[in-house]
Amino acid sequence: MNNGAPKYKRIILKVTGEVFAGTGNFGIDGKTVKAFAQEIKEVKDLGCELALVIGGGNIFRGAVASEIGMDRASADTMGMLATVINSLALQDALEKIGVSTRVLSAIEMRQVAEPYIRRRATRHLEKGRVVIFAGGTGNPYFTTDTTASLRAMEVGAEVILKATKVDGIYDADPFKRADANKFEELTYIEVLNRELKVMDSTAISLCMDNQLPIIVFNIMEKGNIKRVVLGESIGTLVSGGKR
Ligand code: UDP
Repeated sequence: MNNGAPKYKRIILKVTGEVFAGTGNFGIDGKTVKAFAQEIKEVKDLGCELALVIGGGNIFRGAVASEIGMDRASADTMGMLATVINSLALQDALEKIGVSTRVLSAIEMRQVAEPYIRRRATRHLEKGRVVIFAGGTGNPYFTTDTTASLRAMEVGAEVILKATKVDGIYDADPFKRADANKFEELTYIEVLNRELKVMDSTAISLCMDNQLPIIVFNIMEKGNIKRVVLGESIGTLVSGGKR
């Protein structure tokens, strides 16, 4: 049994923007963001330092727009701006329930968010603020998965919690194949070699090079973020070797 202490001191939580759309597939569902903020508060109350990276997939994805003829770099910039919109929505929901937050943007927009400065980010974490990394890496051709990996290294997080709509990594899409098998654990190289759709290869490689564990879990089940933080073995662990 866990004594209620978090397993990790400093955590990066990556949430796909799709989660913010709730039951729809576009935009921001206020109720969903509110419920998510409440879960974040509960995790924060365990005493760990928490930074979040929110994707933008509920609003705009650069690769999709480039497929229909848009310049990829411009489309990706729109995607990065979408992550800022989501970050501000979450900040608002968190502040409303008394959680102190800072949004740090990789794309400078001083009237809206602080610029991303690594030392400032770690200082906020030390002071117990929830940090939200907005604007991705600030570069096109990347994703917010890679942002999560990069920021995790930069601020010295012990783990990346990758929140998805599925309860871990499977060998096939569990929504399409009833015979899909879930992995309890995988190595980085297995994820890359099997081309498992969990995070993009840049994000996985960065974690592999720096031996940063990733836990993929289902965020749609209430209380799961807390369970992972308390060290319950749910989801799939991606690391350099076996537990
Ligand atoms: N993006 C980018 N550079 C980054 C991070 C994100 O160009 O460093 C753009 C990219 O177009 C991406 C979009 O922002 O499609 C939204 O991010 P992502 O697809 O990672 O969101 P998620 O799928 O997690 O909701």
